[in-house]
Amino acid sequence: MGRKNQVTSVAVPAGRENGQTPNPKSQAPLALILFGPPGSGKGTQAKLLVKTLGIPQISTGDMLREHVRKGNAVGTKVEAKMKAGILVKDEVVNRLVEERLAQPDAARGFILDGYPRTRAQAETLCGMLAAQGAETVVIHLVVDYNEVIARLTGRRQCPVCGTLYNVTSKPPKVPGVCDLDGAALSVREDDREEVIRERLDAYQKQTRPLIDFFRESGKRLYDVDASHDPPEAVFGKILALIR
Ligand SMILES: [Zn+2]
Repeated sequence: MGRKNQVTSVAVPAGRENGQTPNPKSQAPLALILFGPPGSGKGTQAKLLVKTLGIPQISTGDMLREHVRKGNAVGTKVEAKMKAGILVKDEVVNRLVEERLAQPDAARGFILDGYPRTRAQAETLCGMLAAQGAETVVIHLVVDYNEVIARLTGRRQCPVCGTLYNVTSKPPKVPGVCDLDGAALSVREDDREEVIRERLDAYQKQTRPLIDFFRESGKRLYDVDASHDPPEAVFGKILALIR
């Protein structure tokens, strides 16, 4: 048929016929660690990154709240601590993260939001990442604490659909009422001011020093000012740094 000199010499691995790029270097999973005090916009940035990078967000806070909602063994163990703004035990959180990282959707990479929070968690995480051969990038969102307090005490959540509002930056159409289902909005237990102060205190004492830990361990680490710019601009800065 006279077609012998087509691509017969190139071995195409099964499943790669559509030209999906098997560059071995790019197959190291990207471990993106988002650091910043409560209220620095980690969750918002994580969601934007999920959309753009196509890798899952792993939020230990969300995972723990889910367990509390389900009222299972982990949930009952951590509920009182979360209400009081006290950090949940390292081994509980480490196990949750380890199980989550083993899920197939995390094989290409993942975004860690709210973890690690302590030195022990950071050390455990470094072991997990080394085992995965992950390429680690740490993003440190830098914000003013007074701004954080103002931001968080303004948060309201719909108890029915979970939508988050903010009385100043993202108010519902009718004050105190969910736009989507008309339910009365509530202040999340861990957004009360005294709880926020506890959380900032815990962050400053236990989590902030991890920045130095990661810097010393030679990980790529970037400080990003998140105090003044809108979330989209902060996101643009993060993308430019990781690419
Ligand atoms: Zn709602």
